[in-house]
Amino acid sequence: MAIDDTSQNKPYRVLARKYRPRTFAELIGQDAMVRTLTNAIHADRLPHAFILTGVRGVGKTSTARIIARALNCVGEDGNGDPTPESCGVCAHCTAITEDRHVDVIEMDAASRTGVNDIRELIDGVRYRPVDARFKIYIIDEVHMLSSSAFNALLKTLEEPPEHVKFIFATTETRKVPVTVLSRCQRFDLRRVDAEKLIAHFNTVAEQEAAKVSEGAMALIARAADGSVRDGLSLLDQAIAHAGIAAGGEVSEEAVREMLGLADGGLIYDLFEAAMGGSVEDALNLFNQLYDAGADPAIVLEDLLQLTHWLTRIKLSPAAAEGQGISQMDRERGISLSESLSIPSLGRTWQLLLKGLKEVQSLPSSAQAAEMVLIRLAYMSDLPNPADLVRTLKNNSVPAEPSKPAAAQTVTESEPTSGLFQEAPPSPDNGGARMVGGMGPNDPVTQPSTQPELTPTPQSLADQDPSVHAANLIQNFEQIVGLFEEHREAILHATLVTHVHLVRFEVGHIAIRLEPEAPSDLATRVSRLLSEWTQEQWLVSISDEVGDPTIAEQRDAAEAARVGRATSHPLVQAAIKTFPGATVETVTERTPDEFTEAVDEDRADGEIEEAET
Ligand SMILES: [Zn+2]
Repeated sequence: MAIDDTSQNKPYRVLARKYRPRTFAELIGQDAMVRTLTNAIHADRLPHAFILTGVRGVGKTSTARIIARALNCVGEDGNGDPTPESCGVCAHCTAITEDRHVDVIEMDAASRTGVNDIRELIDGVRYRPVDARFKIYIIDEVHMLSSSAFNALLKTLEEPPEHVKFIFATTETRKVPVTVLSRCQRFDLRRVDAEKLIAHFNTVAEQEAAKVSEGAMALIARAADGSVRDGLSLLDQAIAHAGIAAGGEVSEEAVREMLGLADGGLIYDLFEAAMGGSVEDALNLFNQLYDAGADPAIVLEDLLQLTHWLTRIKLSPAAAEGQGISQMDRERGISLSESLSIPSLGRTWQLLLKGLKEVQSLPSSAQAAEMVLIRLAYMSDLPNPADLVRTLKNNSVPAEPSKPAAAQTVTESEPTSGLFQEAPPSPDNGGARMVGGMGPNDPVTQPSTQPELTPTPQSLADQDPSVHAANLIQNFEQIVGLFEEHREAILHATLVTHVHLVRFEVGHIAIRLEPEAPSDLATRVSRLLSEWTQEQWLVSISDEVGDPTIAEQRDAAEAARVGRATSHPLVQAAIKTFPGATVETVTERTPDEFTEAVDEDRADGEIEEAET
């Protein structure tokens, strides 16, 4: 590495600049691109335009300069050809490194987006290089150019002079016109993985004679998120901070503080308290973090990250042995992961994720975070929904008096027909399926019911639908059913929601219309009914109040059904267990279906969350 800080008096240079890669060998984590470029240079098959893509800080402009040096280097003796291993000492190499080469023109498209900027630049293209082999145009953030600027550029790209090379860099390839992209050789710079970053940062720290603990380095690499430059800036800050402290070692705690991360140990404590159901401890720990300046959203993000980590090492304990894993994550992580199940970690993840959104969207983020922790603590207390049903079934629900006592012990494989035996044998008290939920808005029971309020007599359905004897129609519901049967969906819906029956007799009905119903409804209903039944039907409009609409009757029946389900002892017990839960809908199941549903719940172990 060409590090020129031989003089003690030299002004301090930031690490990101000081350790900027000057050769392909120094580029971190871009092996594939380096190989392709090296081969192209050796074979003298270089494109006249390159486009370098990748997230910020991965080394796009550094790569552009390395290419510029490779193309213009003449070697120590001044006679060299283009080379992937530029010498670093010839006039061209040094001028490019020092940003003062006349034939290497850098432009930041973010600040010069206009067509005139590009015209000015392109004007120079036709002149031969002053001094070097190639005239090289480096345009950073090229996607920022205006469309007229792109058009102007395109003409040059179509017929570039031999002595010109273009190197574009962009974070957003999608904003670069395809016409431009198609004329460039594209190189995608990859996000650098944490292990490579750590190795690189360790080398840098060593050269800087700085001590950085393993945990601190892992945090810096994690925060760098694939960017060498960002990571070096963080390392720089961390070393500067630590320089003040005695011994000068960069500790994990110092980096946490610098990054505004919550204390790692406290996050573990908080997670353990919440998962152990200790609401008070969890809230105290959270307040401790909050008072120390931790952002509530970051605390939840840390908890999410911890949940992910625990799930990972639960599935594959070897992951804890990887490089850059702090001792705390290794030791506390493994012991904590052993005490938690994968389904419970999955539920925790979902709850935290949902909670994080709330925390981010509410002005009172600390309160929102507290509510999330409370939910988490309550959830941890809750048995698996399937277990809960079994427990309640065996303990709380009185068995049918006539049954022998032994029958109360229901095994897992046995059909659960005994479950609701003390209730009347109507389907209404059927399986109120436990689908958990721990927040006030989360329902405990999942609804859905097929109301049987418009029974179309089987005899009607069995017959040819085109011929319905009028005398088979005994009530208004059957009439409405006919409209459904004949796929008169709009009329059917209107009859259900906007029509009140005032009087029914075979061959004549009187109805009251709500304002939403079309005024010719009576005529149309009369005509179709007469057609379908081959009998005359008179439909008259009345201003008497009449019955509630069919829709209203269904709603009332559904409310009654939910009411009956809610008063069921099993559901009552569930509501006590899941504070704030409400019955939202009632699913009717046969005992066999119910058993299957419980087994499904057990298999996936997830608490379904109601979509709001
Ligand atoms: Zn050189």
